[in-house]
Amino acid sequence: MNVTEIAGVPVSTDHWIGGQRVSSADTFDDVSPIDGNVIAQVARGGADEAGQAVRAAQAAFPGWSATPPAERARLLHAIADRVEQRIEDLAIVETTDNGALIRSHRRGVMPRVAHNFRFFADFLINDLGHEDFETRGHRNHVSWDPAGVCVLISPWNAPLMLATWKVAPALAAGNTVVLKPSEFSPLTASLLADIAQEAGLPDGVLNVVQGLGPEVGAPLVGDPRVARISFTGSVPTARSIATAAAAHLTPVSFELGGKSPFVVFADADLDLAVENAVEQYDNAGQVCLSGTRLLVEESIRDAFVEKFMERASALRQGDPRDDATDIGPSIHAAHLEKVDGFVQRARSEGATVLLGGEPNAEVSADLGGPYYRPTLFGDVDPTSEISTQEVFGPVLVLHTFDGEDDAVQQANASEFGLAAVLFTGDRDRAERVSAQLVAGTVWVNCFFVRDLRAPFGGSRMSGVGREGGTWSFDFFCDVKNTVTSPNGWTSTNGNEGISHG
Ligand code: NAD
Repeated sequence: MNVTEIAGVPVSTDHWIGGQRVSSADTFDDVSPIDGNVIAQVARGGADEAGQAVRAAQAAFPGWSATPPAERARLLHAIADRVEQRIEDLAIVETTDNGALIRSHRRGVMPRVAHNFRFFADFLINDLGHEDFETRGHRNHVSWDPAGVCVLISPWNAPLMLATWKVAPALAAGNTVVLKPSEFSPLTASLLADIAQEAGLPDGVLNVVQGLGPEVGAPLVGDPRVARISFTGSVPTARSIATAAAAHLTPVSFELGGKSPFVVFADADLDLAVENAVEQYDNAGQVCLSGTRLLVEESIRDAFVEKFMERASALRQGDPRDDATDIGPSIHAAHLEKVDGFVQRARSEGATVLLGGEPNAEVSADLGGPYYRPTLFGDVDPTSEISTQEVFGPVLVLHTFDGEDDAVQQANASEFGLAAVLFTGDRDRAERVSAQLVAGTVWVNCFFVRDLRAPFGGSRMSGVGREGGTWSFDFFCDVKNTVTSPNGWTSTNGNEGISHG
């Protein structure tokens, strides 16, 4: 088995297929964004490994789908127990691999990973499908039947968190899984495979394949044996997955990018609004939900900017393993170049740089990785590239509006519709405005509060479908209605009708 050590934590760099570590002839470099060092040579899978993983998942499906829900739930809780025992290992490996803050991984993200398993295990047992209903004496019984092999493809910005939003409900529902993490953050998925094995998940129920999207992801999504594809990532990749999935009409769920509006009315609690606005730089702006278009009511523009600059200038950029750091690196050097390209084009089009606007050369010289300064643009043409395209870096644009109608019009003037953030002191206005916003999630006077019972997803180009709570089970299952007549029984064994247990 090929293993790398990250801060003393051994991590397999092989695939995990059918309960075995499987290597590939070729490998790719896994680079830490913190310092640009190669931290692992990871198995570079292709069509062969993709096919093996789907076969393993297919072979495990009859056993797992027939496993009683209570036993499936028990195993998911056992995985959660082990995630909780290994929070420190998971946190340091994820931070080293993707550069997000270790303090967030320790306090928020990794405990949420455990919660993802517990939530969907409990939802399966307590909340799913207990209601039968009657039509002229006939009983309707709705069941959420396992669909088969699910291919789950995740991005690098919150690798284990986003992967387990999919893995947990897919497994709870009785499906078997092939998980393909991003090639830029492959390591925690490998630890998850170890954890699942230690927890006693049967071989082949969870498989992890490593490699580049076009090489190992593409054969997975084009495989006719796959029952569901759930993907989180960029719009261009979603297009190619949709094309491949169309050949076999494989159902897809897409969680994609955004250019979400962050709307601040003059009647808002300004300190609260500014505090939340500065949070849009979290994870160096590499957050799909980030409210990157600050829409501020004209009359409070100057006051907002003043407070914002004060707060944002105090952000400390540096090593994400340091608890004092607020902003870490971009995921890799080419991504930083892409972010800088957006910024330089905006500058040349006449947008005013209010903050940042360049790479953080000092921190990069000190640590070696790609660091970009938190950036804010003012005086921006709302139709310009920087105002309409997802940068996926620490870059915000400031626009002003005049009244509710203008705010709604500007907020909705986007091809995306992932989230919207709204700050106002007027409850009626909050209801009026949020009712008109096109977004999968609207946050009012808050940001990033997420309950797994709620639907999550994007409108317009931000996604297809919703996941979370029942919506996850709707996607990962074949939902079936069984209608049973009261007539025609020759033997009831004392039961009324059929028991669907
Ligand atoms: P990406 O599309 O480049 O890659 C995502 C995943 O798809 C990776 O695992 C990659 O290897 C794989 N992939 C690439 N080409 C493929 C192909 N042809 N077939 C199958 N798989 C393929 O995205 P990224 O750069 O990793 O992530 C950033 C994007 O993700 C941003 O647009 C961001 O907004 C979005 N995102 C959305 C959400 C959400 O919940 N809506 C959450 C996080 C990130």
